[in-house]
Amino acid sequence: MPDVSNDFIRNLPKAELHLHLEGSVDPRTLSELSEKHHTPFPWASNRYKPLENSHRPLTVAECEALYNYQDFTGFLMAFKAVTERLRDPEDYELITYRLLEKLAAEGCRHAESFVSVGIVFWRGQEFDALFEGLERGRIRGERDFGVSLLWIFDAVRNFGPAECAKVLAKAVHMRERTPSVVGIGIGGDERMGPPENFTDVYAQAAKAGLRLSVHAGETTGPSSITGALDSLRAERLGHALSAKDDPALLARLVRQQVPLELCITSNLCTGSCPELAAHPLRRYFDAGALVTLNTDDPEMFHSTLAGEYRIACEHFGFTEAELTQLAANSFRASWLPEERKRELLNLL
Ligand SMILES: [Zn+2]
Repeated sequence: MPDVSNDFIRNLPKAELHLHLEGSVDPRTLSELSEKHHTPFPWASNRYKPLENSHRPLTVAECEALYNYQDFTGFLMAFKAVTERLRDPEDYELITYRLLEKLAAEGCRHAESFVSVGIVFWRGQEFDALFEGLERGRIRGERDFGVSLLWIFDAVRNFGPAECAKVLAKAVHMRERTPSVVGIGIGGDERMGPPENFTDVYAQAAKAGLRLSVHAGETTGPSSITGALDSLRAERLGHALSAKDDPALLARLVRQQVPLELCITSNLCTGSCPELAAHPLRRYFDAGALVTLNTDDPEMFHSTLAGEYRIACEHFGFTEAELTQLAANSFRASWLPEERKRELLNLL
C-alpha cells in the first residue's frame, strides 16, 4: 500500500460530482427536521405513506439506527424517512448549507448535487418555493465554506417519461433564472426504466443547454450504458459498473473520455458490487478511462469523499500522483465554466 497520509488526502483539492442532496442528511439533522415535522405528511399520492412512527419526533439514536439498515429495502426506508421530513424552504436551506460545510472538511472545492425534483412532484409539493431555500443554502454555504455548488435535477426513471418530462421542464424554467441549475439526471430502478424510454426528454434537455448525466450500469448490464450513450447522449455516467463485462464498451468509454462517476462504498452497500476486490476502479483507471470518485448518498452509506480516496489508496494501491490524477479528473469532468476549471486545476 502506498504511503499516503490522511492530511494529503484531506487537503487534496477535489470535486464531488455524484451526490444526492437527500442522502447527505446526517442523523442529527434528520432528528432536528423530525422535531419540526412529526405529523404525517399530507400526501398527494396514496402510494406513498408516511412511516409508522411519524406521529412523534425521531431521536438521534433512532435516526442512526435507520441508517444502519441490512438490505436495500432498509436503505429505501431511510431515504423515505428523510424525504418525508423535507417540507419547507428552510429545510432545504439547512441541508444544503450543512452539506457544503461537510464537503469543505473533505477538501472538496466544488460539488454538483442531484436534487430529487421527481420525488418533490410525486409528493405533490410546489417546487419553486423549495428552490429558493436550496439557493439560499447554496449561496450562504459557498460564502462561508468556499465550496461552489451546481444543481442537477433528478427524475425517477421508474415513474416513466411523462414524469421525467415535468422535471426537465422545471429544470429549463429554473435555468432561465439561474445558471446554478446545470443539468438533469435519471436515477431510480434501472431495470424498470431503460434509457431508450427517455430519448425525447434528454434531446430536449440538451437543446435547452442542460448537461446530461445518467445512472447507468449500476444494477443492469452493459446495454444500459450503451443506451445511455447512444439514445440519451449522456455526457457523464453514474456508476458504469457493468462496463467491466464488455471490453469493447470500456474501450469506447476510454476513447471518448466519457467521465465515469464511480461510487465504491455505495456499490458495496447496495450489493451492486459484491466485494471491494471485484470493483473495477483500478481496471478502468489503468485502461485510461476518465474516472472520478464520489459518495452518492454519503450519510446513508457512511461514506465521505476523502474516505473514497483513502479506499483507492489502501485497496487499489493508488499513489499520491494517481490520487492527484483522480482529483484533476473530478475538475475536468465538472460542468463549471472553463475558466473556473482552470483555476481549480491550478490548485493541484
Ligand atoms: Zn446516485
